[in-house]
Amino acid sequence: MRYATVLLLGALLASALLCDAQKKNKTKSKGKLKSTVAPSTLESATVELQRAERCTAAKCKLPDCRCSDATLPRPKFKGKEHEIPQALISSLALQFVTITFDDAVNAVNYAQYDLLFEGLTNPDGCPATGTFFLSHEYTDYVRVNALYNAGHEIALHSVTHGDGTDYWREATVATIEREFGAQLQILETYAKVDPQHVRGMRLPFLQIAGNNTFAAAKNLGLGYDSSWPTQQFKQPPMWPYTLDYLSVQDCQIGPCPDAALPGVWVSPMVTWTDTEGYSCSMIDACAYPPEDEVNALFDWMLENFNRHYQSNRAPFGMYLHAAWFSRGRNNFAAFKKFLHHLATYPDVYMTGISRMLEYVRKPVLGQPFKSCEARPKTQCQAVHCNVEKTVTGETRYMSVCDRCPAVYPWLGNPLGQAL
Ligand SMILES: [Zn+2]
Repeated sequence: MRYATVLLLGALLASALLCDAQKKNKTKSKGKLKSTVAPSTLESATVELQRAERCTAAKCKLPDCRCSDATLPRPKFKGKEHEIPQALISSLALQFVTITFDDAVNAVNYAQYDLLFEGLTNPDGCPATGTFFLSHEYTDYVRVNALYNAGHEIALHSVTHGDGTDYWREATVATIEREFGAQLQILETYAKVDPQHVRGMRLPFLQIAGNNTFAAAKNLGLGYDSSWPTQQFKQPPMWPYTLDYLSVQDCQIGPCPDAALPGVWVSPMVTWTDTEGYSCSMIDACAYPPEDEVNALFDWMLENFNRHYQSNRAPFGMYLHAAWFSRGRNNFAAFKKFLHHLATYPDVYMTGISRMLEYVRKPVLGQPFKSCEARPKTQCQAVHCNVEKTVTGETRYMSVCDRCPAVYPWLGNPLGQAL
């Protein structure tokens, strides 16, 4: 039976059950229902989605396929992890650390990013880098260009950032493509970022829309999404995987995908644990962080890191918004101290997510990369513009490379052309 037919039957059954569902479950069922009819709402997708099958190491092989339940970078060790001595695990897998920041880049947070990565290097002598998931409003594209030229990864977080979680939960493939595709165009034109270098996306509020999100990522030619938190797979933590086959990952903010989407990587957001034992997908979302003191914060970061480093070496994510640095007097100092501590390990690499995925695709012993990443070296002549945001009539101040747009770039008019 075609997957679409199965889904349609599933959708009918789900809608019948939905009538009796309790209010608490209603949102979840509604989300699921939306997910199961996803193929009929694929306005711009050219392929019909097939239901994903269970993953097996025999069918799914690196570099292009990885099962969600594989724990070491080499499938041949699957099922034998407990037999491998700790020392050997250490020599097998390097520890990657992915530091990511979401939302607008502006003059204030740029200065913090600059200070944070200043002088920070990996064991191969290459500079440590992070990933910036950019949303459009209030972003300073001259600073984005500077981050890009400094070797950081530039990734997508939509143009509008949306109007709450409903917008993203219900989003069609076309909506997601429009939001993220437009942001890609803005970055290319106003920050001189080569679209080929933009490999990843993160949904605002981490609100994915089941298959639609990942189908849109595929249509946009992106390599990965990093929006999907896991609480269940943190001890040992989950490695990144592809959606060729059904994911075993716990669905914290559904709907989650259930179609086969070959070649799309999920870089799961392995949650941290706060001081009361609660899980948090981003550092700034932890309800009970330690007291505002450098050593207490540092020790807490180390504890979360060691859950990865001392077990299966799944990449360790440090996900946050720069606003967190202003929330406590010692947050920035502790964060910086911790990164400099990581830089002393011979087997810890701080890179963008796409660079880390290169390693996961082709794990090697010893140095993970043949050379440092080439810096883009783009030229950006800074210009400062006062332009009208036509949807609201407000004036927006905007710094861009080379030439001001006629109006404030927005969805539907990403280059801000005169209408
Ligand atoms: Zn955001």
